[in-house]
Amino acid sequence: MDERIEALRRRIDDLNLDLLRLLSERAAVAEAIGRRQTELGLSHYDPMREQAMLDALVAANRGPFSDAVVKSLFKQVFQASMLLEQEQDKARYLTSRRHRGEDTVVWIGDVPIGGDHPAVLIAGPCAIESRSQVQATAAHVAARGVRLFRGGAYKPRTDPYSFQGLGQEGLRLGREACDAHGLRFVAEIMDAADLPAFEDHVDMIQVGARNMQNYCLLKAVGRSRRPVLLKRGLAATIEEWIMAAEYLLYEGNAQVVLCERGIRTYERFTRNTLDVSAVALAKLETHLPVLVDVTHSGGRRDLLVPLTKAALAAGADGIMIEVHPNPAVALSDQKQQVDFEGFDAYLEATLFPVALSPGRTELYRG
Ligand code: PEP
Ligand code: MN
Repeated sequence: MDERIEALRRRIDDLNLDLLRLLSERAAVAEAIGRRQTELGLSHYDPMREQAMLDALVAANRGPFSDAVVKSLFKQVFQASMLLEQEQDKARYLTSRRHRGEDTVVWIGDVPIGGDHPAVLIAGPCAIESRSQVQATAAHVAARGVRLFRGGAYKPRTDPYSFQGLGQEGLRLGREACDAHGLRFVAEIMDAADLPAFEDHVDMIQVGARNMQNYCLLKAVGRSRRPVLLKRGLAATIEEWIMAAEYLLYEGNAQVVLCERGIRTYERFTRNTLDVSAVALAKLETHLPVLVDVTHSGGRRDLLVPLTKAALAAGADGIMIEVHPNPAVALSDQKQQVDFEGFDAYLEATLFPVALSPGRTELYRG
């Protein structure tokens, strides 16, 4: 190799290191600016400022790079700084993986959800309708190894003349059935004023799809110490869903489980469209456990097994399913709840055989 070239290359190597040092120093200053902008609620992107910096660089340019090349090189530097500032913002969110690297495990009494724990199954009727209905369902699912029981006492119904739930009496009946069969009770809250009753009766408070953006309710539930199951809104983006969870964490409740339940699309063969990518993304973007409600997702009994497999393959930490002694006469969701026989067939198709022994609900993962 030519000695002259070798010497010049050594000079280039030194200059590269100088440039790297300067770029890193510049990045640290940009991060400090970004932090201050975030504190003041200002945008990181300021096109006027960017233009002024480019003008100053062009004015100072003595070549050999053309003005256009100088501009494009510095635009890359500006862009990289902007990305750093955006990453820094994400880490500020309590729900973010950047804020907390390891999986959050939410405990419903002695039942863990998330992390490396086996996928859980939450089963029970859409609505609590009577003592005999809730007792029979609780007895059946408990005998199959289920430990988390669902049942709505306050039902968000489209038609105001349809069954609205038994209210406080429903909470009482649900609690009684869960106590009788060693189950943990999950029920949906619709009004912050009912919070004391929920804290007295339920083990996990569900915030339903229709209330995902009811920020007053989120703040109230966020101040509770009960674990929360937060459904994704009917037409909520993943970001809106995660931000709703952020409200809960910000208020001090870290025991939050996300639940994808299908979103509204143009598709008519299903009630909603299960967004499998939302499950994977929620797991990537947040450290919270993610469940999938397979009943409301498809709205079809014949999709319960494939949607369960898809959900678990996408990384879901558990499944919610509606079970009713006689769905034909159910006061809500007649079309999609499964009867006891249907539930047993569902378990056969989705659980490892060992899961059918009492106390085990190890769902088929992947
Ligand atoms: C429910 O789980 O009972 C329910 C009403 O679900 P969603 O809020 O997802 O519609
Ligand atoms: Mn339902």
